[in-house]
Amino acid sequence: MNIRQKIALMITAAGFLASLIFSGIVLWQMTDQPNRLMDAELENIGQRALKIVLQNDGKLTPNAVSEIGDQNFWLEIYAADSGRLIYKSYLAMILSMPEIKPDSSRTVSRTIERDKIYLGQDRQNEVTFRLKNFSVIVAGKRYLLKTGRPMERLEEEFWHIIIGVGGGLLVFVVVLLLLSYYFAGFILKPVRIINDQARNISEKHLDRRIPTGAGNDEFNRLAHTLNEVFDRLEYAFTRQKRLLADASHELKTPLTMMRLSLDEIRSGFDDELSDLQSESIMRLTEQVLRMERLVKSLLDLSALEIAHSTTTEPVDLKPLLNFLTDDYTLLAEARKIKIKTQLPHRLPVTGNLEELNRAFSNLLDNAIKYNHDDGEVRISGRLTDNRVTVVISNTGPGVAEAATTKVFDQFYRVETSRAQLYGGTGLGLAIVKRIIELHNGTVTFSSTPEGVTAVTVTLPFY
Ligand code: ATP
Ligand code: MG
Repeated sequence: MNIRQKIALMITAAGFLASLIFSGIVLWQMTDQPNRLMDAELENIGQRALKIVLQNDGKLTPNAVSEIGDQNFWLEIYAADSGRLIYKSYLAMILSMPEIKPDSSRTVSRTIERDKIYLGQDRQNEVTFRLKNFSVIVAGKRYLLKTGRPMERLEEEFWHIIIGVGGGLLVFVVVLLLLSYYFAGFILKPVRIINDQARNISEKHLDRRIPTGAGNDEFNRLAHTLNEVFDRLEYAFTRQKRLLADASHELKTPLTMMRLSLDEIRSGFDDELSDLQSESIMRLTEQVLRMERLVKSLLDLSALEIAHSTTTEPVDLKPLLNFLTDDYTLLAEARKIKIKTQLPHRLPVTGNLEELNRAFSNLLDNAIKYNHDDGEVRISGRLTDNRVTVVISNTGPGVAEAATTKVFDQFYRVETSRAQLYGGTGLGLAIVKRIIELHNGTVTFSSTPEGVTAVTVTLPFY
């Protein structure tokens, strides 16, 4: 069950409980009110009757009470001290009533023939009476009054009301459920927005933020807090990138100085150096060159990482790839590797010539470097709906399936020993990936068990 459903259910349950209590109170009031009115009336008429009875002392017919306005009044008056009956109304003579406690009232049902006296009986000649016993003190003497009066049947009415209220409650619950479900969705809408936006903020789009409104509710505060977290993250990421760029930059000049000094020693003092010293200087130069390459790659990569876009122009990849093939022919021929190209008439893309040159140069470099002697490199291109696809594949030992996704990571090399043999830095493919990303393109790496490795690049068609 999701939060929206839970909120809707809770509101409905609370609403149902509250209206149940409310209806209970109203119902109780409704059913008790007529009884209380009737009790007050019984007491009133009873007292008036007692007054008339006492004024006429004994010489009173049972019907005399009709003078006070009600023939259907059931009345017995007793002197409290002696218990003697001093008056009995006509109705009390033809109909007996059950005993009830003094100072109490009760509703009872009696049967009486309608031709004797008509009291609004139902078909079974049943009449509902309200009875009340109470005592009155007149001139220091206490009298006990047993009073009663027919009243309308309330039970049927009562059931009608119960059914009405029950039905109303049911409709109320359904409407409340629908409304609260709708409103819960409305209230939770900001959560959905926050979720969608937070999902969009990845390493590549760390500058994006969750939109916040003017209000100061919990969701808005959550969005603000998340945005602050993203601020800190973005700051940390850019700082890390800047650090790499700055460190590489600081290393560049000393490395160039070292290389130049080594060149100077080699050319100026070549005759005076022993073989061992010459060899050491050679090795040193090699390492310095390697470090220079590494620093250059790091600088390239950090510049690309910081960039959000690149300047583009229409570029035809076909001449670019042909030039590169020519450049690498010597290197390939040295290891008897054949480079075969299969390109259409034109491969126009929107891109940055210099960066694309660097990317494809890195790919060709890998294709030859990680090939075996007498191997083969194939460069093929094709135009498919709005995309230009270039595949550079090569024979060779290939890489394991698990490594194919990691080759784009910085400093990742499949086999450290082998990579070291070729002097790689593990930054080449990371640079390729970043360049292609800046071009809104894609690059994938695959390797078959037979050792055919293929890198597929797609770029937007110009
Ligand atoms: P750099 O390119 O910076 O000189 P590198 O070539 O070692 O160093 P990447 O180009 O990023 O680094 O390649 C990463 C690893 O992927 C390589 O070490 C290599 O093991 C593997 N690899 C890359 N291209 C190929 C390929 N065409 N065939 C087989 N393995 C490859
Ligand atoms: Mg490489």
